[in-house]
Amino acid sequence: MTNGPQADDDEHDDGEACGEHRVQADGGPGPEADGGRGPRIIDHGGGIWSIPVPIPDNPLGHTLVHVVETDVGPVLIDTGWDDPASWQTLAEGLAACGTSVGALHGVLVTHHHPDHHGLSARVREESGAWIAMHAADAAVVRRTRGSDRNQWLGYLADKLAAAGAPDAHTAPLRTALAEGRGGTLPGGRAALPDREIEPNELLALPGRRLRAIWTPGHTPGHVCLHLEEQHPGRGRQGEGRRGGRLFSGDHLLPTISPHIGLYEDPDSDEITDPLGDYLDSLERIAGLRPAEVLPAHQYAFTDAQARVDELTAHHAERLSDLRALLSERDLTPWQLAETMRWNRPWAEIPFGSRNIAVAEAEAHLRHLVKLGHAEAVPGSTPVTYRATD
Ligand SMILES: [Zn+2]
Ligand SMILES: [Zn+2]
Repeated sequence: MTNGPQADDDEHDDGEACGEHRVQADGGPGPEADGGRGPRIIDHGGGIWSIPVPIPDNPLGHTLVHVVETDVGPVLIDTGWDDPASWQTLAEGLAACGTSVGALHGVLVTHHHPDHHGLSARVREESGAWIAMHAADAAVVRRTRGSDRNQWLGYLADKLAAAGAPDAHTAPLRTALAEGRGGTLPGGRAALPDREIEPNELLALPGRRLRAIWTPGHTPGHVCLHLEEQHPGRGRQGEGRRGGRLFSGDHLLPTISPHIGLYEDPDSDEITDPLGDYLDSLERIAGLRPAEVLPAHQYAFTDAQARVDELTAHHAERLSDLRALLSERDLTPWQLAETMRWNRPWAEIPFGSRNIAVAEAEAHLRHLVKLGHAEAVPGSTPVTYRATD
């Protein structure tokens, strides 16, 4: 999980800055009460449950881990944050669903972030369940496990400097690097998956029609999982691939706009366009016309198209704001982040969150360049951007 500020032009301004996400003050409809004992699981019908697994010290509250019954045993979609209390909640939640950790057959991971993949290793250890993930996120896990903190600090400091960060901002990174504190990175012990989730394929789950939909943007290998079965009580016959239910991970959440930054990869010079990927992925999801969306945070909701339209409009507005800023003067990604509107003044945004804000600014810049609305000023160091029309 990354920590960052949120755009202050989000449609829900009563939220609180909270990691990669924004949460509404009232949190929306919460999980059902069960009399105060055990986790408040929700039975979604048709052999689907959700368990709210807490994320410690995070206003986001919890990850909704979904349990999907199959003919060969229950399968989890995501596992939750790696923390003893979270583990206990997961185990108690599975018991409340009438099963147990030991009975689990497999784990489908929507993306590599630790609030989704954190407990996967322990689940596998205690149940023998396989873990499946899209290859692009599996590559992130492999890279994180293989690199140390010094390599990461050096990469981050260079990247921030290239984006125009002042020396005062990169100095703490360079000091830590010079002191060679080393050590592992957060996520350095995350589980390597056993299986690859193949986009567009039906997963090999007897008794279920669950199809993987690749939805890059929030991470390079994010997947949504489409349950192509008639939604109990809501679906209509004859809808073919349309309808059904969609496990949307962090891609589509009811009131939160997920963080779209850069796909950080120290080994690659490829200029990726995560925001473009995200917007394309939103369209792909809307085309499925799911009867219900089961996201990994907040609560289940029904009108996927309306939510896709809101998020598309949100990014379109943000892009046009940035284009307007660039037509006033040339800006580095850092200067652009300083000038953009966030949910608090730039001066109050802490160090780590500024890094996320710059990544978000850069993701928008790259998309403007791809659309032909901006370009890098040739020979500028740090790289400076200008509007082209
Ligand atoms: Zn995430
Ligand atoms: Zn998340």
